[in-house]
Amino acid sequence: MLTTKIKGNAYDVAIENFDAAADAMALDSATREIIKYPERVLAVSVPVRMDDGRIHHFDGYRVQYSSVRGPAKGGIRYHPQVTLDEVKALAMWMTWKCAVVNIPFGGAKGGIACDPKHMSQGELERMTRRYTSAILPLIGPDQDIPAPDVYTNAQTMAWIMDTYSATKGYAVPGVVTGKPICLGGSLGRNEATGRGVFYAIQSACEHLHMGLKGATVAVQGFGNVGSITAQMLHEAGAKVIAVSDSTGCVYNPHGLDIPALMHLKALTGRVEGFPEAESIAHDELLTMTCDILVPAALENAIDEDNASAVRARMIAEAANGPVTPAADKVLESMGVFQIPDILCNAGGVTVSYFEWVQNEQHLFWESQDVYSRLERVMKTAFRDVLNLHEERNVPMRIAANMLGIGRVAEAVRLRGFCP
Ligand code: NAD
Repeated sequence: MLTTKIKGNAYDVAIENFDAAADAMALDSATREIIKYPERVLAVSVPVRMDDGRIHHFDGYRVQYSSVRGPAKGGIRYHPQVTLDEVKALAMWMTWKCAVVNIPFGGAKGGIACDPKHMSQGELERMTRRYTSAILPLIGPDQDIPAPDVYTNAQTMAWIMDTYSATKGYAVPGVVTGKPICLGGSLGRNEATGRGVFYAIQSACEHLHMGLKGATVAVQGFGNVGSITAQMLHEAGAKVIAVSDSTGCVYNPHGLDIPALMHLKALTGRVEGFPEAESIAHDELLTMTCDILVPAALENAIDEDNASAVRARMIAEAANGPVTPAADKVLESMGVFQIPDILCNAGGVTVSYFEWVQNEQHLFWESQDVYSRLERVMKTAFRDVLNLHEERNVPMRIAANMLGIGRVAEAVRLRGFCP
């Protein structure tokens, strides 16, 4: 399904970044021992009756990294290359991310190693329901709240909510976020991550005294997050010159018509074949000359092999873990400004938190309320990370991790631990 494999081990990257931040903040060894490791790891077998009558087994996972600051929170990924280590890395990042935007959640993640592009809706539904049954002991509105991630969506969340609710005998909307609006989803959740990336880019542009109008942008991954980010940048007057998905990459130096490209993607499921654009190789996008590079696909897209060829002024990490620690060092020496993932893409979990609050209080907010609260949260978090970056003279990624890890560490110190 993919043209490129996910490179490297995301968990090694997550641990390396944790250690770098913990060292920079001189975190004491006792707190490190408590917060460095996942609280709970569940591996499940997911047997599914396929459309041809065969039973096929899939490996599924749910990892609760931390519940120190509140219920564990994190998305569910369906992808052929899902592994336990990847889920652990994503769950760890969720923990620091929720703390960076200061919402009362811990961190979790889940996933199934499967190829959803080659499964029918019926097969996806049966797999989702069986997986939900398998992770049932872990999830709940006060325990652990799943959400969409790569190749899962509002429909997937509706199936999880229904399966969970069936075990209770009443509707429990707060067990998942990213639901359809008519089932208690929040206005603004679908576009929240991309919108949050846009607010983070706006803040970075202000900091760098760089205008967004006319700025050139390249976006790797034209799914939920990448396409909304591209759309908002396009509306703000930026020139999105290249966009890719797993099937191809399109380029127009004068700027792509993003609404038309979104229309094509919705119709055909691919960006390839877009008129008024030339096809280029996937790797060219990451190294093209542009003002803002937005990796919005998968982990480790920029590593030591291609980092020195990057020609962007700013990298806005819409994906989780798109830049390896070795690449960070190269980019820093080149003066590329990075908005680290746990800050840049935190808009999704922020609006997930708003959705959960609305569910718990039986309220329904207007979209303008959601947008203005999201903007406030993102811009406050950006400022907090930037302040640490400047005061402590550390890279933006270390500053973001110091902020997130510091808040979790403070909660641990206050709570203590038992027995
Ligand atoms: P999605 O499934 O909607 O989109 C992923 C896109 O990436 C697809 O268009 C796919 O074709 C493309 N892609 C996959 N491999 C690629 C490759 N090698 N080169 C180019 N494109 C490739 O997923 P999404 O929800 O947009 O998630 C994208 C990233 O954002 C992931 O890292 C995810 O963890 C992160 N993220 C998502 C959310 C959210 O709310 N959905 C929140 C925070 C972070």
